[in-house]
Amino acid sequence: MATEIPLVLAEEREWATAAALEKDVSSFDITTDVLIGGYGGAGVCAAIEVAEAGVDVLALERRETGGGTTITSGGQLYIGGGTQLQKDLGYEDSPEEMLKYLLALCGPNADEEKCQFYCDRSVGHYDWMVEHGVPFKTAFFPPSEGTIPVEDEGLCYTGCELGYPYREIAKPAPRGHTVARPGNNAGLILMTKLLEAAENAGVKVAYKAVIERVVLDEAGRVVGAIATIDGEQKAIRARRGVLLTTGGFIHDRGMVERFAPRILKCFPPLGESTEDGSGIRIGMGAGGAAIRMNESSIVMPFAPPRDLLRGIFVNRLGQRFIAEDLYQCQLGDAVVIHQGGVAYLLLDADIAATNSMGAQVCAEGTIEEIEKAVGIPEGGLANTLTQYNKFAEKGEDPLFQKHPNWIRPLDKGPYKLLDISTEKCAFPTFTLGGLWTKSTGEVMDIEGNVIEGLYAAGRTTSGFPAGGYNSGMAVADCTFFGRYAGRAAAEAAPLD
Ligand SMILES: Cc1cc2nc3c(=O)[nH]c(=O)nc-3n(C[C@H](O)[C@H](O)[C@H](O)COP(=O)(O)OP(=O)(O)OC[C@H]3O[C@@H](n4cnc5c(N)ncnc54)[C@H](O)[C@@H]3O)c2cc1C
Repeated sequence: MATEIPLVLAEEREWATAAALEKDVSSFDITTDVLIGGYGGAGVCAAIEVAEAGVDVLALERRETGGGTTITSGGQLYIGGGTQLQKDLGYEDSPEEMLKYLLALCGPNADEEKCQFYCDRSVGHYDWMVEHGVPFKTAFFPPSEGTIPVEDEGLCYTGCELGYPYREIAKPAPRGHTVARPGNNAGLILMTKLLEAAENAGVKVAYKAVIERVVLDEAGRVVGAIATIDGEQKAIRARRGVLLTTGGFIHDRGMVERFAPRILKCFPPLGESTEDGSGIRIGMGAGGAAIRMNESSIVMPFAPPRDLLRGIFVNRLGQRFIAEDLYQCQLGDAVVIHQGGVAYLLLDADIAATNSMGAQVCAEGTIEEIEKAVGIPEGGLANTLTQYNKFAEKGEDPLFQKHPNWIRPLDKGPYKLLDISTEKCAFPTFTLGGLWTKSTGEVMDIEGNVIEGLYAAGRTTSGFPAGGYNSGMAVADCTFFGRYAGRAAAEAAPLD
């Protein structure tokens, strides 16, 4: 497989947190084999693997409890390739079909190596989760109802698998595995189980402990870190390596402005306030390259209710620009990146305007009145609607191939136009770019050389969803690549 070309390579050293040098550290206060900075989704999975390998591990967590953003998440994991849950519910899948889908979704910016690595081991990741106590209920939540199970159904579609062109590129299969929960707290159940498993495996954790910088020896190898634990600065020697899992950078507005400016207008930031880029900066301080820093997950949560998919999205010229039934992150990208953040949803009188993103009706009446009210060029919207309705009569959408289930003519006035622009609605967003890592977690420098002793996973890295995002991919990426980074660090030859 071809080596990926890291897009948007963050070289600017002013963003890096300078490393300390071993020769300037008079003595180390603590020694461990593997030091993990950040005890959320990626950190706890890494820690479990290290401890289960019989290797000493210390995790530093800046808060008073572990869990990070992952504990607040919807607890959905994008897993496939033929898991037991998929099989039990009668869905066929394979690593090959999953890979075809991921590469199509992520487009030319796909991280082929990571996608392949993940697809080949995704079934194993599901089994690992179950073995570590994470529950999934054998029940299917149908796509006609949405992408977030209402009860505690374990499996559903959380992406564009049924949408065009994806349904023609790869055999569709539902891959959203949602952790079973009594209420709407699947992330809490997920992390409670993983934190328990880590404790049982013997992981040591220091809370109110902030990793600040790594320590480099004369050869440039990472041999430890400087941290503030309970208000006191400590030097920690890590004999096998330091693993950074502190989350992404959505809460550092300076980093967002510099590296991902296209999401500056999107609110709210999706993640805990600890996602301030500290791990990325620390890794850069050790010479690590940060890649795909412009990538993000932009959610446009306009449905439920699903009936809204029967409407049509139009831009400021009254033109359609995407199939309305694609996943909410592909819709978010289309509006924010390709339409400059300005878009509308046209509904007829049969579709209620109630929606979950807070979009308001900005014009109502005949199509001509709506065009005038929002400044769409005369006939722009009328022509779009005539064309749409002509084929909708036959259940077809030749322009964007929306699924026939969501097609019917929009022919009952008065019409309503919802303003779904970024300045008017919620577009929750988090970052996907970060340190350049191998699939096994080793951090690389700008030339692709491994920085010895430095590992990273989760939103601190550029993971497999780069270029395209579906629900469940962040938690899957964090937990899976956290595990493999933990394994690699545990297997590294220790310092003398
Ligand atoms: C409401 C919500 C719902 C979501 N639902 C889903 C979903 O269902 N599926 C999905 O795939 N994605 C979901 N996401 C996104 C996903 O949860 C996150 O991207 C992912 O969990 C991040 O995991 P992580 O391990 O990289 O970081 P985290 O889980 O945030 O862990 C990082 C940890 O590092 C700690 N830390 C930070 N800096 C330091 C430091 N310097 N020193 C020590 N500790 C530090 C933090 O306190 C934190 O505990 C959701 C996000 C939100 C906000």
